Amino acid sequence: MLEVIAQKLSEKNARLVAVSKTHPPGRIMPLYLKGQRIFGENRVQELQQKYEALPKDIEWHLIGHLQSNKVKFIAPYVSLIHSVDSFDLLKEINRQALKNNRVIDCLLQFHIASEESKFGLSEQEAAGILSNPAFSEMKNIRICGVMGMATFTDDQSLVRSEFKQLKSIFDSLRSRFFENSPWFHEISMGMSGDWEIALEEGSTLVRIGSLLFGNRN
Ligand SMILES: *Cc1c(COP(=O)(O)O)cnc(C)c1O
Repeated sequence: MLEVIAQKLSEKNARLVAVSKTHPPGRIMPLYLKGQRIFGENRVQELQQKYEALPKDIEWHLIGHLQSNKVKFIAPYVSLIHSVDSFDLLKEINRQALKNNRVIDCLLQFHIASEESKFGLSEQEAAGILSNPAFSEMKNIRICGVMGMATFTDDQSLVRSEFKQLKSIFDSLRSRFFENSPWFHEISMGMSGDWEIALEEGSTLVRIGSLLFGNRN
């Protein structure tokens, strides 16, 4: 399965985040040995344990909701935080990145699903953050793009329209705030059930778990 997905992604210059949450290091290593280097986790404590147990050339992505008081644990090594959904969180990431003498790459998470429970910003809230003078003072974070989760549904046209919405938010933010920022190029969308639609709609990072690892308990 890894090979099939990797081939389709490479045709579109997109990358795979192998979502290894709930699976132990022993399940991750076979993918690593096949060349996969980007892994995604949604809980800080679990990420921490796997970071310690596994090879250090893995790029760890935090894809789940992040509480400010936990940023310090992952700041020394995390490669990309997909789930920035508030200015306060961004400030804390900047503070911890500075302490570690790093620049931490982040994505802004948007609420695109019709479900109520998902985290994420509106385009207006994001514009508020990006136009805040305090934002331009933050030298230890870099906003590299956007992330979103579509509604969990069999209705493919709904899913597609939500991905189109995220792409249009990306385009609009890029032209308003990132015109001269080539690093603002990531659109993190697509999971096991909808990654092919996401790819058609412009995804650059797909986050796939169960399709690679089987169902989670
Ligand atoms: C668990 C998770 C995924 C992967 O889900 P699958 O359906 O198993 O591919 C992707 N993104 C986020 C934010 C997740 O929490």
